[in-house]
Amino acid sequence: MWVLVNGHPAARQWDTTSYGGMIREGEPTVFIGEASDYELFDLAIHRIEISEFGRTEEGKRVIQRLKTLQSDGRIHFGPRPHAEPSDYTSPPPTIHITDEYRSEKYDSLDSTARLLVHEGTHAANDPEVDKAHAKPTDMDDEIAAWDNESEFNHELPSIHRNSQTSDYGRLNTREKKAKFLKDLYGSKLP
Ligand SMILES: [Zn+2]
Repeated sequence: MWVLVNGHPAARQWDTTSYGGMIREGEPTVFIGEASDYELFDLAIHRIEISEFGRTEEGKRVIQRLKTLQSDGRIHFGPRPHAEPSDYTSPPPTIHITDEYRSEKYDSLDSTARLLVHEGTHAANDPEVDKAHAKPTDMDDEIAAWDNESEFNHELPSIHRNSQTSDYGRLNTREKKAKFLKDLYGSKLP
């Protein structure tokens, strides 16, 4: 069961630790019960909206794209173990967030939001307005996705940060970032 206040998990059955997130101004969204996938994506997008990243021009651009995809029913959980670029190429154009992020293994909301920032960046960078295959067109596109994910990740409470994303966030040159991503993705990266 989820108890969510402004899109933040306030308490969960399996986790009694107090949540280090931020509840900000605005109308409270309180959700109690089992969230559907659609509701969870709505909350995750809202989570991005209330972040510092979500208030930047780049953040707003990514959120706008995510909202369009969401209203078209084009954001789903899928079976792939990782959110890899090659997962998003088959029609209908859709963002797939790996199933593990739906489970209790991760903090579903923050982790899902983090991946949505990444894939939403790819989708926002897609030159074809009606397609959202979230496929990296080149290294610059992948770096943009990781940069945005890293910026959002940095804002999360430390226990909810993704360590790999944090490692990336410490890289300070394009050369180092490109090497990190080449090591990670190998030949999957164009
Ligand atoms: Zn990517």
